[in-house]
Amino acid sequence: MSGSFQRTTRYDYDLITIGAGSGGVRASRLAGGYGAKVAVVEEKAPGGTCVLRGCVPKKLLVYGAHFAEEMEDARGYGWTIGEASFDWGALIAAKNTELKRLEGVYERILRGSGVDILQGRGVVVDPHTVQVGDKTYTAERILIAVGGWPSLPAVPGHEHVITSNEALDLPELPASIAIVGGGFIALEFAGIFNALGSDVTVIIRGDEVLRGFDQDVRSHLAHEMERKGIRIRRETRVQSIEPTADGQYSVLLSTDEELVVAKVMYATGRAPNTRGLGLEAAGVELDPKSGAIKVDEWSRTSVPSIWAVGDVTDRVNLTPVALNEGRCFAETEFNNNPLTMTHANVPAAVFTQPPVGTVGLTEEQARARGPVDIYLSRFRPMKYTLSGREEKTLMKLIVDRETQVVLGAHMVGVDAPEILQGFGVAVRAGLTKQQFDACVGIHPTAAEEFVTMRDKLPDPSPECSE
Ligand code: NDP
Repeated sequence: MSGSFQRTTRYDYDLITIGAGSGGVRASRLAGGYGAKVAVVEEKAPGGTCVLRGCVPKKLLVYGAHFAEEMEDARGYGWTIGEASFDWGALIAAKNTELKRLEGVYERILRGSGVDILQGRGVVVDPHTVQVGDKTYTAERILIAVGGWPSLPAVPGHEHVITSNEALDLPELPASIAIVGGGFIALEFAGIFNALGSDVTVIIRGDEVLRGFDQDVRSHLAHEMERKGIRIRRETRVQSIEPTADGQYSVLLSTDEELVVAKVMYATGRAPNTRGLGLEAAGVELDPKSGAIKVDEWSRTSVPSIWAVGDVTDRVNLTPVALNEGRCFAETEFNNNPLTMTHANVPAAVFTQPPVGTVGLTEEQARARGPVDIYLSRFRPMKYTLSGREEKTLMKLIVDRETQVVLGAHMVGVDAPEILQGFGVAVRAGLTKQQFDACVGIHPTAAEEFVTMRDKLPDPSPECSE
């Protein structure tokens, strides 16, 4: 890297970052590469939520879970598979070996950019001072990148439940599990546990899973998950959780029914990790409701020497967003290259079975802005013709009627996250439906459907749209 940053000598460091997760590591190593003197404070291991307790271990378990269906499907293609068995302990051990490797990679990346790693909990003492254990360090700039942590309602018996943190390291596969919540984490774990053989019940307080996603995506995914044997209890709340004499848990539902399960997991959202960091005393403004750090488009907090990136700011809580925010901060502050990121049209995926890929507006959001054309296709993927699996793929485009710009692309089905990455570029670039159609499909694939959808859905009648 260029080493373009001119060091000041007034402080111990040019930058102290609190939190060695995705956003913090990206910002710190770039700043270090540009010649800044940087320290990262981390109380656990480098890597943060994504690498140690989130995206990476979850995706490894998702891969593990896929083999169950792959083996069933193989029979339709002439394979005879003897009695297969699954060893949860072996999967968890293999996953942990990989996480240890990644921890080392992250540490080497930081040290390779000349970044000091300060082990311990960092507390902001004043706008230029951070305390770590019994030592204090000064810095011209402080970056807060401490992420979030599972948050659960104070339901009686909540001390008996697990969150995604523990679900990733259970000593054995639970025979049955109740999962409270209908968001990313709840549904991804429901898919993992169900495929591996647990009896899974998802409990949601609303009428459908994945609030905020396109309505067709929500209902299609829920239908396919139910088809795989996952029970979804809609408009249901948990009254209490109590241990039973045989080591299970009794979950009392708002319907007064009792559910007895081996484990209860809560995935009811995550809260920014801002408590006990000294932020309020240092003058950093927090959102009174969520506790998130308030920042502007440059990730600047209300204190001129303090910035914040990633989940702790509760903008779009996704790893690639934190990485981008961290990069923009480092480019702006240490490479004389002012950059901000836009949080619109961020593609996202839910690694359920089948998975979801999405970018841009939902039909509901687009209709609120003006007239739209809707293209929707449901089909059985070719792979399942011989295997006989009754799983359908959904693909949907939302197009602005006047400009013909594609406002949103959504998919539920095999490979949806991989497919949507490319279409994310197209939607982000503001391409029109005609430009989509001008691209020749790759045949035979599911993805080609996105460039061959010709028939618009009829407009909903006024009664239906109310
Ligand atoms: P989400 O915000 O996605 O979902 C929370 C769920 O919990 C919702 O279904 C919500 O219901 C429900 N809920 C909230 N409070 C209560 C309550 N008091 N009682 C009952 N239900 C409740 O959070 P997650 O924990 O699933 O994930 C956190 C974030 O992590 C996500 O928003 C996402 O940004 C990120 N993430 C991304 C992944 C990916 O990219 N694949 C994977 C995992 C996480 P309701 O809909 O009614 O509000």
